[in-house]
Amino acid sequence: MSAALAFAQHPDRFEVKLYERSASPGGMATSEAINSEKYGASYINDGVQGGSPQFANTFAIFEKLGFKGSEVGFQISFGRDPQEEFWSNVFPSEVIDKFGPDIKKFGKVLKIIKAMEPVFAFIPVNKMLPMFGFSKDFGDRIVYPLVALFFGTGNQTPYISSAILERVFMDPSMKLFEYSPSSFLASIPEMRAFPRLSLVYEAWKKEVEEKSNGSVSIVTCREVTQVKRTKKSVTIWSRETKGTNNDQGIEDPGREVKEEFDQLILAVDADAALNILNRDATWMEKRVLGNVKYLWDITITHNDLDYMQKYYRLEYDSSLRSKKRVEERDEEAMKQFEFAEKNFRPLYYVRSYPSDKTKIEMSFDLTNYQPQFKGESAYGPGGSGWHNSRASSPSEDTHSGRKVPGDEYPPLSDHVFQTIFLDKHGSEELWSRGDIDKHKVILEKWWKQQSHRWQHYAGTVPWMMWINGRNRTHYAGAWTILNMHEIAVVSGFAAAYQLGAEYPFKDSEECKRLFALYLGASHGVRMRSEDRKGLFK
Ligand SMILES: Cc1cc2nc3c(=O)[nH]c(=O)nc-3n(C[C@H](O)[C@H](O)[C@H](O)COP(=O)(O)OP(=O)(O)OC[C@H]3O[C@@H](n4cnc5c(N)ncnc54)[C@H](O)[C@@H]3O)c2cc1C
Repeated sequence: MSAALAFAQHPDRFEVKLYERSASPGGMATSEAINSEKYGASYINDGVQGGSPQFANTFAIFEKLGFKGSEVGFQISFGRDPQEEFWSNVFPSEVIDKFGPDIKKFGKVLKIIKAMEPVFAFIPVNKMLPMFGFSKDFGDRIVYPLVALFFGTGNQTPYISSAILERVFMDPSMKLFEYSPSSFLASIPEMRAFPRLSLVYEAWKKEVEEKSNGSVSIVTCREVTQVKRTKKSVTIWSRETKGTNNDQGIEDPGREVKEEFDQLILAVDADAALNILNRDATWMEKRVLGNVKYLWDITITHNDLDYMQKYYRLEYDSSLRSKKRVEERDEEAMKQFEFAEKNFRPLYYVRSYPSDKTKIEMSFDLTNYQPQFKGESAYGPGGSGWHNSRASSPSEDTHSGRKVPGDEYPPLSDHVFQTIFLDKHGSEELWSRGDIDKHKVILEKWWKQQSHRWQHYAGTVPWMMWINGRNRTHYAGAWTILNMHEIAVVSGFAAAYQLGAEYPFKDSEECKRLFALYLGASHGVRMRSEDRKGLFK
């Protein structure tokens, strides 16, 4: 979709078709309708939910389309037991005191990893921790749950590259948290919850079609089945679908149609790309794409407060405080306790399974996270929504459908939670999925997610530049670097840029930073000289 947006700027130069097999664009950025009477809002974003304010390209697109992200404090609650497990970035707990020396050392280690990044790119977190003498418990209680939160995909936390972990703390474009030598996470960072994503993508499609004067068409319910590339052209076979988006195959597929193009962007998962290329894939494509490991996760969206209270801490209580800081009357900690007493409202919950603490489950409180539950419009705060130029109106509800006007937060019993069970094939026996009351389940959805294991950074990421642009093919998708909406967006811009389209946000230093990094990492090139103003000259 971002490549389509870039091509749409040049109706006279490109003729583009985007084929999407499901009924609407957006991929994992999906919204679902829920019962507004019962839950206080008429929809949820049930896949992608938000990002850090550094997601400059994502927010620039929102802005262009009349949408806004909503600021929300990124409060996290890890574990339940106050002595052994519970910690949070909202106030210090016993567990944070217990790991004081490890936490102090962690800051120094981050600096070493940064200085020797090319080496640590190939060292997984589970090897890095003993290398620096960290205790096993520090890994199990603090590091793995935190890593799972960043990379939430699969249940692969021990195998994540140490360099990627360092970047999440130190890289200005990816940074989510400020490290603190005393409390590990310095503060409650600001997050931005996304507006209704189905509307965003609907508006995005319209913007592309209008701006391109029809030279870029977005065709939904059409699946690409096969590709054949020659020196002169790319032949594509595609067929109509019923709008299903799963990897289980399509019932009653439409007749295959064959077309010729000059160039191809494959913005699908790496394994789907290999399937499509089939015997046409080069040796290098087979190695680089075949190295991406995928895992199956399931999200269960529910309203089961008992389940949540059984495994997590949803509410502040004074027994959760660090006794040491209370005795010392530590001024900063006292302020944090006071704040937590009134405002402890985590968005993210993480817990380790007791029998294998490297394996993790996560939950979200969507009512605390997503702004429609507080009465915000589906366009986001101050978002104007549909541009005046667009004659048609959106096909979906843009109102929150909130039950009790004036009431800031609904009671916990009315909250919508989502629990994600990770890595079906590696962890299913640990899942507590059966504990969720079936009558309180709102929605269940399977997702295929890439693993950020260190091998991804050894066998795929550095080699993308050797397959991009060869055989009339470019690749796009978050998997090319890191599973985040912002990377997915930037990867599409980069593919279109390499084919001659302009980068739409070249005047924004903020947006350009990640774009220039991505071009270098994935395509092995710099921005064109006329675009290298300011910082990037
Ligand atoms: C539950 C969940 C929560 C997440 N939360 C966040 C979050 O809060 N913030 C964040 O930044 N990221 C989040 N992510 C990650 C984020 O969703 C992804 O990084 C990003 O959306 C991936 O975009 P993509 O374009 O690479 O892939 P996709 O979104 O998977 O897009 C690929 C598209 O290709 C289509 N397709 C596949 N095969 C074919 C074919 N043969 N023919 C035609 N079309 C085809 C698919 O239908 C799909 O629309 C989350 C992911 C999940 C699963």
